[in-house]
Amino acid sequence: MKRSIIPVVMLVAAVMLVACGDGSPAVHQTKVIAHRGYWKAEGSAQNSLASLRKAAEIGCYGTEFDVHLTSDGVALINHDDDIDGVAIWKNSYETFTDHRLANGETIPTLRSYLEEGAKYPDFKLVIEIKSAPDPAHETRSVAVVMDTVEELGLREQVEYIAFSYHICKEIVARDPSATVVYLNGDTTPEELRADGIAGLDYNIKIARNNPALFGDARAAGITTNIWTVNDEADMRELISYGVDFLTTDQPELALELTGGNAGQAE
Ligand code: MG
Repeated sequence: MKRSIIPVVMLVAAVMLVACGDGSPAVHQTKVIAHRGYWKAEGSAQNSLASLRKAAEIGCYGTEFDVHLTSDGVALINHDDDIDGVAIWKNSYETFTDHRLANGETIPTLRSYLEEGAKYPDFKLVIEIKSAPDPAHETRSVAVVMDTVEELGLREQVEYIAFSYHICKEIVARDPSATVVYLNGDTTPEELRADGIAGLDYNIKIARNNPALFGDARAAGITTNIWTVNDEADMRELISYGVDFLTTDQPELALELTGGNAGQAE
């Protein structure tokens, strides 16, 4: 059974109702991020270019996607750390070029994915740099990803997420202005803020077990994102707490419940 986080509702609601100049309350708008793109759409597949386009076309704030680095330094878009049982980080890009996604696409490289995303300039590209067994490989991944972003002129359109705290700190060290959000759920908002990390992006189970999280994050001045929220009741509950972002495999439902992303263009 879910643990109720009702006791924080009144506190959070009070914080959300920031008075506008005319005395009317400003309504907090939860933004929707498609998890691995809008991959449930027809003709789509997880982490495909089609999933990016479809998430952008329905009005998501952005799409999350996963990046691994091959042994020869090519950043690939794939969730698992292997493809058909072959470890990405220990093998060359050439090893994977014949693989096809469920919709027939080849595996996108980071460059091809970002170039596609650049066609939707108001749409955020939320790059998850995946952990690797070797911290040096993680450091190399960060360098390749951030150099590619820089070459394409997309610094303002990307955000970074990672389970590895080493990766988060490497990104901040390279660009203190980058938006970096931590995934692993084991650090307090105050510690994240102190390390220059812009937000937390935690599993919904952690949100349920730590209902004070939202107020603590707000007090620390960092953003909140919860993954992977696919259930309507969970979405409604989190929206009521003023969560900043929902990461979901059901972006159309989330957009419906949040009232879309109107007025959020940055
Ligand atoms: Mg991911």
